[in-house]
Amino acid sequence: MPVPTTPPTLVDEVTFARYPFLPQAGDWIRSMAQRHSIDLNELLDGPWMEKARQRARIRLVDSIQSKEGVQVVGGDIHTEEGRLIEAFSFYYARLVMCASEDERLIARWAQAEAARAEQLLIQDVDNLAPIANTYLSEVELLEGAQAVGMVANHGMSMRQLRQQSSSVWRVGLSDFIEICPKITGHRWRLPNVDVENGWVKLHNERQYASSAKLARLLRERMKAGIEAEALEKMGEVTTDLAVRLAEPVGMIRNLMANKTSEAIALVGAEESDWPPCMQKTIGDLSNGVNVNHFGRLFLASMAATLALPQESCVGFFRGAPDFSESTTSYQVAHVYQNEYTPAGCGKLKVNHNCPVLPGDNRTCDQPWMDHPLKYIRATQRWKRLTGRNEASTKSEDVKSSETSDDAQPPTPDKADSE
Ligand code: SF4
Repeated sequence: MPVPTTPPTLVDEVTFARYPFLPQAGDWIRSMAQRHSIDLNELLDGPWMEKARQRARIRLVDSIQSKEGVQVVGGDIHTEEGRLIEAFSFYYARLVMCASEDERLIARWAQAEAARAEQLLIQDVDNLAPIANTYLSEVELLEGAQAVGMVANHGMSMRQLRQQSSSVWRVGLSDFIEICPKITGHRWRLPNVDVENGWVKLHNERQYASSAKLARLLRERMKAGIEAEALEKMGEVTTDLAVRLAEPVGMIRNLMANKTSEAIALVGAEESDWPPCMQKTIGDLSNGVNVNHFGRLFLASMAATLALPQESCVGFFRGAPDFSESTTSYQVAHVYQNEYTPAGCGKLKVNHNCPVLPGDNRTCDQPWMDHPLKYIRATQRWKRLTGRNEASTKSEDVKSSETSDDAQPPTPDKADSE
């Protein structure tokens, strides 16, 4: 079901500043630009827009560095100046993204802006309905509060919180079917939702209110809208504009490159970098030992984090006494899709999946060692520092190097102790 061609009318300037990507915000932005004589030169270099450019840089950095997206807290949009800064910072950030001509960066930024809007909408009792009607063809409030005033700084009174958490929404089945494949988690799968007469009811759960589910669905549509508009405007970037935006584009490209190289380092982990718990689990399974559920989930989530091919991960389980190709493939796919974080050392020890005892392995003995991913990072860093091919943390090395300084395992200042 397409996004409605005629969105509901919105007139509130605070709403436009808070969600500057809304299709209804375009006329307001143009009128603000006219009223305050903000043209392209002012936006790129003028003193009046310096604060907007600073805020735009924060938005862009958040889009690369923060998992949660662009930080919700911005300027005070209850003043005209605050609204100007917030709205034009979005436009400046979009210009930078367009000038990068990098579709991957644009997608990431759109995702971060949409994630921010989702967080705001969860609390924004006034705007949830009109914004839902902007992006969904069929959406209805079944039970609960009608819009009530939102208090400043996105805070909510207890009464508002109660009203918001008691709201129950339903969305059209066509909208839901189109959006839900983009969202992971069992609650978004069609067999698990309440479908009736072409509607999907978004039930309140203890930790996941109906309005938060609606905001989650909206995030996908908002992201698509922000991304599509930026890609369209990418074609309008002139050489002159690209040159003038070279500095912020370079800054954001560098951030992205650093982020990517961190991920590649982990993805490039060799088998010899794997921690003893992972190697033991693989070894046990291949020898037909029945590894417990916790150990199996740990192995699959480590394989997913290290970006090992799914088939390789399924292969780890081939020797298990209860191996079934179809069941294992399904379960492994589920772990890869849901991006589970591998368990830490504490839980692995409690569940009998940590094979080392004190003194067995120098890296595992380090006081900062609390997660197998730290083991991999430390081993990789140690290899880089020593230029050795074999990790010094192999137990044979440890035994033979007890008196050798150059074979000491990484210490917290040498190793990644995040
Ligand atoms: S201490 Fe941690 S990293 Fe080392 S084997 Fe045990 S669980 Fe794995």
